[in-house]
Amino acid sequence: MAIERTFSIIKPDAVAKNHIGAIYNRFETAGLKIVAAKMLHLTKEQAEGFYAEHSERGFFGALVAFMTSGPIMVQVLEGENAVLAHREILGATNPAQAAPGTIRADFAESIDENAAHGSDALESAAREIAYFFSAEELCPRTR
Ligand code: GDP
Ligand code: MG
Repeated sequence: MAIERTFSIIKPDAVAKNHIGAIYNRFETAGLKIVAAKMLHLTKEQAEGFYAEHSERGFFGALVAFMTSGPIMVQVLEGENAVLAHREILGATNPAQAAPGTIRADFAESIDENAAHGSDALESAAREIAYFFSAEELCPRTR
């Protein structure tokens, strides 16, 4: 088992509904440790840059509008096979198809506003972590 780091966003809908603590509890219950965290209100440019891979999709404008609609929490999670472990507790992109007990099944209303983000691979995790955090902001959990 490899210790990995992955990147998480609690999106504006879940922050607005006061679900930050409940979602952090899901991370910790799954054995994922938070090694960096902060609240941000994304600019249009930040949201467009983060989701650049989707810039040609029909939903891109709606996605950027949603992601800039209120504050978010961004965090780095560390643990065994963290990328996959985090995607598993997150659930499918469309909450209507997310497995019972997953974050998106329990906290999201629709594919447009689906509560949380998780990196889909180690490479995207490294890129997404670096998009929001400097190396000095990551706090190894050695104790
Ligand atoms: P994820 O990795 O599970 O978040 O899914 P994707 O990388 O495929 O899409 C990124 C984000 O774009 C999703 O989490 C949704 O917020 C949004 N998204 C994806 N598909 C749709 C769609 O059909 N309509 C809208 N409005 N948003 C979508
Ligand atoms: Mg994705």
